[in-house]
Amino acid sequence: EQRVDVLSVSHLKVAYGGNLAVNVDSLTVKKGEIVGVVGANGAGKSSLVNGLAGWSRGHARVTGQVRLGDLSVDILPTYERVRSGLLLVPEGKLVFSHLTVHDNLTTAFDPPSKEGRRIYSRDEVYELFPRLKERRDHLGSQLSGGERQMLGIGRALMLGPQLLMLDEPSIGLAPMLVSQVLHTMRTLAQAGLSVLLIEQNVKAALEVVDRLVLLERGTIILQGSASEMANNPRIAQAYLGAH
Ligand code: ATP
Repeated sequence: EQRVDVLSVSHLKVAYGGNLAVNVDSLTVKKGEIVGVVGANGAGKSSLVNGLAGWSRGHARVTGQVRLGDLSVDILPTYERVRSGLLLVPEGKLVFSHLTVHDNLTTAFDPPSKEGRRIYSRDEVYELFPRLKERRDHLGSQLSGGERQMLGIGRALMLGPQLLMLDEPSIGLAPMLVSQVLHTMRTLAQAGLSVLLIEQNVKAALEVVDRLVLLERGTIILQGSASEMANNPRIAQAYLGAH
């Protein structure tokens, strides 16, 4: 079975002034696939997803081709990419602090095309993350890091993601929550969601991704299936604590 590319990126460059932070020749994510991106601090992981989302942090200059299904999104402004289903849950989680969980999960959204998109309802988000239902009347500002993460993902699901990009979802979370959040991604991918997962925690990432990409100084220096990468001596040595 040939699965279609939901995301295809070519010749993507993100530069801050003269500093080239991202230089990726080719990157794809297929339907229902989870692709992990790992790399040291400053490798360019956040610049990559911000560039794909069209967020310009500082004075980033982004060039290259980004396609979401049949649509060229690199020419679209950020909000149009969102409407098309290219959704980023950033490290800051994009949660409204002064609204309750329940109100954070309110959206009246009318996407340009519903084809192939699953738009989750608030109840479905509560089903996926029962913890959010328990906390429904708490303010965003009162939530733990893990709860904010779930809420950020929940809000993205209600916008009908074609591709969900997560920037370091495990940061600051207790190990049990990390595996909970990542395994929820598995469940979502099995239902057809495509995910680009930025992770510091290579070990946790390898438990859920189909493919892993290693970024160094903005370029992809190694990639492969989860099992190939888990057995790669370079990955094992640098990230999995092997000697
Ligand atoms: P981290 O895990 O620490 O967030 P990262 O892999 O996400 O690291 P980026 O934050 O994308 O890496 O940074 C990549 C490079 O771009 C670094 O050299 C960083 O100093 C530089 N950089 C990032 N943001 C900016 C900016 N707004 N202005 C100038 N340089 C920047």
